Amino acid sequence: MLRLVLTGGAVRRLISFDIDGTLEVGDPPGVIPLSAVRRARHLGFVIGSCSDRPISYQQGLWEKHDVPMQFTVLKQQLAIVRADFDVDYYLHIGDTEVDEMMAKGAGFDFLHSIDDDVEAFMSEHQLHP
Ligand SMILES: [Mg+2]
Repeated sequence: MLRLVLTGGAVRRLISFDIDGTLEVGDPPGVIPLSAVRRARHLGFVIGSCSDRPISYQQGLWEKHDVPMQFTVLKQQLAIVRADFDVDYYLHIGDTEVDEMMAKGAGFDFLHSIDDDVEAFMSEHQLHP
């Protein structure tokens, strides 16, 4: 279960979003709307995508939907993200055991986009537009 101890506006937070099964533009679509992703960026989160989809596909997707992602990486590259961005809190949101394994292996917290309470997470972090 996800444990969040984020209080105070000065905490720098990063969210890595899986695409398929996690975001509304995934195949299959997930529960997280792009409005929540944009909202996260607006609130100062570092945001990006981490997927098995090729980087070029990910970049094309964010260009098409005009989402200001700050990184696009493959699933096994979360450690690079962790090294590139110095923040206080790292989270990966995804829908598979591989997501969870890669997240934990790279020192990220993990939120399961189907099994965990994503609605509660979004409310807690004011990610609803
Ligand atoms: Mg997925």
